[in-house]
Amino acid sequence: MCVPQSLSAMLGAIPVGERCGTQIMNRYCFMPFSPVALLPAVALLLAALLSGCGQAPPPPAPQPPSTAPASTPQAVSSPAAPESAAPAADSDKWWSALPRAAWSDFRKIDTLNPWFEVYEIVEGVFAIYEPGQYEEVISYLIVGSRSALLFDSGLGMGDIQSVVKQLTSKRVSVLNSHAHYDHVGGNYQFDTIVGMKHPFALARSKGAPNSERVEFVSGDWVWKKLPPNFVLSDYRTRPWEYSRWLRPGEFIDLGGVSLEVIHAPGHSPDSIVLLDRKRRLLFTGDTFYLAPLYAQLEESSFTDYMATAAKLAALAGEVDYLLMAHNTPLAESRYLLDLDQAFQAIALERARFSLTDEGREYPFKGFSILTADPPEDNAPIIDAL
Ligand SMILES: [Zn+2]
Repeated sequence: MCVPQSLSAMLGAIPVGERCGTQIMNRYCFMPFSPVALLPAVALLLAALLSGCGQAPPPPAPQPPSTAPASTPQAVSSPAAPESAAPAADSDKWWSALPRAAWSDFRKIDTLNPWFEVYEIVEGVFAIYEPGQYEEVISYLIVGSRSALLFDSGLGMGDIQSVVKQLTSKRVSVLNSHAHYDHVGGNYQFDTIVGMKHPFALARSKGAPNSERVEFVSGDWVWKKLPPNFVLSDYRTRPWEYSRWLRPGEFIDLGGVSLEVIHAPGHSPDSIVLLDRKRRLLFTGDTFYLAPLYAQLEESSFTDYMATAAKLAALAGEVDYLLMAHNTPLAESRYLLDLDQAFQAIALERARFSLTDEGREYPFKGFSILTADPPEDNAPIIDAL
């Protein structure tokens, strides 16, 4: 449920650590328009709840396509209540938004490692969600008839490999949506890492020490009981080595599942999205989710992000759903059009914004965009592709 608090006020309370680690302003009020549209009853309920936030009610529910998410709400229990180590519900804390109702649309799969929550989003596509840390990052295991792809490996706090092994016995490769710490943390647990050759990703593949990471996995950044064998003083981004390079436009064939790699720079220069044309799905990484989008980071490029938004908007007619990397898994593809229009409005100086400690926040329906003040490219565009 929405917290009646302005985003700028929330931003003012945000500790700043590693820049991408500042996704603390967590996404409280940004969940009304996505998968609930599949469930009219839930949509109506949310519309009532959200009316106090000044948001319009969700649009009429579309007819799900044949590849509609495996939504079996009647068979699903709500996500688990906070565990013993968690503070009690506290409206000042980011985890007060949990559990997020959107997850109850999907079949939950019990795992042996309660740090992770696993849901089947469509057949053979599993969201591996880490709600115990404020990034609430979501990695996706995509299983074909021959092999599987893990699109992001999460924080590296828990044993994601064992979760993956529980879900498939097929050979698994890891591909990262980009090389920020919350998407590559579990890379070290796998033998096969494929990626786009990019200086930013190569630099990040060297890892980062505990001193640069410990903040993100302690204090108020974490509310849930820590994974077994987790040692705070030993947490770091462990290095990884690439097994094979992918090129933009290349297809990954998992057997009956074909994924097109699309370069989507902006949030970071190495960002990619994955397109499953057959099932009309787009895995968006951090390029889009229903929360503040980061175009203000040192490695972000407003110009690139805007070009990416235009490129992805052209795909909106070929995609039904977006599978996102934070908070909640699914949004309708019309957000690709909204994202494009949002960037254009900012560029034309037709969008209102509020000032934050880090720059500007431009609010839009369902998401916002954070930029420098004024919007600019913080770093030279690096493109070694
Ligand atoms: Zn990121």
